[in-house]
Amino acid sequence: MHDLNVLKEKLVECASRFDSDELFPALVPEALELVLADPYAFAIAACLDRGMKADVIWTLPYYIKSHLGHLDPHRIHQMSSQEIADVFAALPRRPRFVNDAPKTLADLTHIVVEECEGNAANLWIGKSALEAKHTFMRIHGVGNGIANMTVLLIEKAFPIRFDDADRRTMDIKPDVHTRRVLYRLGVAHANDDHAAIDAARRVSPDYPGAIDGGLWFIGRTWCSESNPLCSECCVSSLCERRGVIESR
Ligand code: SF4
Repeated sequence: MHDLNVLKEKLVECASRFDSDELFPALVPEALELVLADPYAFAIAACLDRGMKADVIWTLPYYIKSHLGHLDPHRIHQMSSQEIADVFAALPRRPRFVNDAPKTLADLTHIVVEECEGNAANLWIGKSALEAKHTFMRIHGVGNGIANMTVLLIEKAFPIRFDDADRRTMDIKPDVHTRRVLYRLGVAHANDDHAAIDAARRVSPDYPGAIDGGLWFIGRTWCSESNPLCSECCVSSLCERRGVIESR
């Protein structure tokens, strides 16, 4: 069985290999600039991250801003549900759950305007990681996984660091990559959300989210569903390759 400390070190080291362009892939450079400069744009993309390619998700705020001519939460708060739905319908690329997206944007905007003085950074400034996570989970369509991811990414996108005492509460986001890699490594007993979160807590109990980026990077780079490139993978020497039939 693994030395979990060695595995954790390796996964954290893997996470350091990619930069913000990979964390926040976007279809055009202006979209990346927007989500890294505007906390409201960041929050919109994070809350809509459901079942779509990441580069489209992180470009959606740019498309919305281009269509409206602004990304002002006060003005969006004044829009009707139908007007917001019409915006999504007019975008060059739409969220996968296009019928849910207007409610997600409306809920987020309501919280930003009514509780954060119109400044989306107040969703997390002066809050614990758990408080920020629970605020995001009040938004339509934002579940535990997206909220976990959002809290982890806030620290990557903006100059803020949650208190060290919060880190035990900062879990990974279970997705196709993190679930599969933890299962194949042999630390998750099943390829599902619950087992992945539990495994990450055992590997990195003081800060489970610390290994999220490394798992994601490994999943995207080497550990594809079929034909994983195990010989090139950075955790090859530590992996049980559970359920893997290597073809190369
Ligand atoms: S060694 Fe292979 S199975 Fe294990 S994590 Fe890497 S690519 Fe996946």
